[in-house]
Amino acid sequence: MPLLLHDTFTRQLKEIRPSDERSLRFYCCGPTVYAPAHIGNLRTFVLQDVFRRTVEATGIPVRHVRNLTDVDDKTIRAANEHNLPLEDFTRPWITRFQADCQSLNMLPPSEEPAATAHIPEQIKLIETLLAKGHAYATDDGSVYFKVTSFPTYGKLSRLDERELQSIAPEGPQDADEYEKADRSDFALWKGRKAEDGEVYWNAPWGQGRPGWHLECSAMSMAALGQTLDVHGGGVDLVFPHHENEIAQSEACTGQIFVHHWFHCAHLMVEGEKMSKSLGNMYTLEDLTKDGLSPLVVRFVLLSGHYRQQLNFTFNALHAANEAMRKFSQTLLRILPRAEIDLETFRQWCSTPGDENKLFAESTLLNAWNLLCRDLNTSGAWGQLMKQRGQWEKEKDPKILQRDLRALAHLLYALGLDQLPFTPKKEKTNPEAPAEIRALAEDRWKAKADRDFTTADQLRESLKQKGWLVKDSRDGYTLSPGQKS
Ligand code: AMP
Ligand code: ZN
Repeated sequence: MPLLLHDTFTRQLKEIRPSDERSLRFYCCGPTVYAPAHIGNLRTFVLQDVFRRTVEATGIPVRHVRNLTDVDDKTIRAANEHNLPLEDFTRPWITRFQADCQSLNMLPPSEEPAATAHIPEQIKLIETLLAKGHAYATDDGSVYFKVTSFPTYGKLSRLDERELQSIAPEGPQDADEYEKADRSDFALWKGRKAEDGEVYWNAPWGQGRPGWHLECSAMSMAALGQTLDVHGGGVDLVFPHHENEIAQSEACTGQIFVHHWFHCAHLMVEGEKMSKSLGNMYTLEDLTKDGLSPLVVRFVLLSGHYRQQLNFTFNALHAANEAMRKFSQTLLRILPRAEIDLETFRQWCSTPGDENKLFAESTLLNAWNLLCRDLNTSGAWGQLMKQRGQWEKEKDPKILQRDLRALAHLLYALGLDQLPFTPKKEKTNPEAPAEIRALAEDRWKAKADRDFTTADQLRESLKQKGWLVKDSRDGYTLSPGQKS
């Protein structure tokens, strides 16, 4: 089954194939390391991980490069606010990001270059662009890319053709990010300013630091060569970041920079854009500190198509926990009937097999086809859930074995290869207010201490406040009842 993926440049599904017929060169814009990644950032990285795994599961090795943006406007500003040298400030955020990725069961990239470790390559690119007339230096020691020197500028994001006829009235643009309507010359190098503190490097045209867009061109080409097979990021990067990457790279090399553009739609929270001001930005830690498995978070992040915005809700998180619990239980029941021990199953999950053989007779062919057609992760999972009933009834170990092998292949691609797992025991209803949850916790503790009088009093007081407690063997649930 060929793997088809939507390409932002042509707006079409295109087959994924390594241009050198050996391995796929895949570059992803990495995190800006000045704060913890939020679950929106992490969704993009998880989806890139699924893409990489699915390519590998079709038998194609992947050279996966994801950079670290450890110098830009935001990192410098934050380091200065904390009175720390840039490197000391970014290091803990890098460690935290890598730990989040590991918790979410992402495969480590083949290379993870940092922008500050590739300054000479960036200076070299600027030298070439200056020599070819695509860039100009200004009095403050900055260097700008001359957008009019690159006639196809704007093709990826399909900027209005009329806008392309005239240079933006505002003149050169030096912020790392700017609005869609602006189409102006952008900074390749930013001359040293007082507010940058000690963050600067020497270059032939003066001291300063590279512009954000240039970092990715330099790191991707250093690691993967002048033409990449697939380049990924969130949709917000299409313009200006990726448009600028194309312009500066192609103007420099004269070669096509990227064959296939892969962009992921944004994660929303309870119907709103995630933002600091709305107080709805969640980190992985926020969601897992009460014992929820990060794998459940991974599952939620995959629960919609990557080209559609996904609305994160706490209800969805709890539903995901439940879905994974049910699926895990099925697995634990059918593995012995298939005469397969857990270790063997886990091994199957960690190394993809030959898809043609695996899916030839398996009932999971539909699920695999859905994944291979533009990464329909939720569709593929839906097929797996559908199959559960059949497996529960199936008596023939051979048939179960065949399906389990195919399932392991799919779980590898989805990065859910740690199934079956023990999900969090639901103790509290997420909708219950903090005060009610605290009372319920006190009651649970009293019961554990065999202080049944207190436990009963607390149950009664919860009931009076309109909440019912239902105990199970190893936890309890809270549900709204009638106030008494
Ligand atoms: P940053 O750390 O800001 O450089 O972003 C890292 C990655 O996260 C980039 O690919 C962004 O496009 C992506 N991103 C930012 N916000 C969201 C969001 N709400 N949902 C999904 N991806 C996002
Ligand atoms: Zn980038």
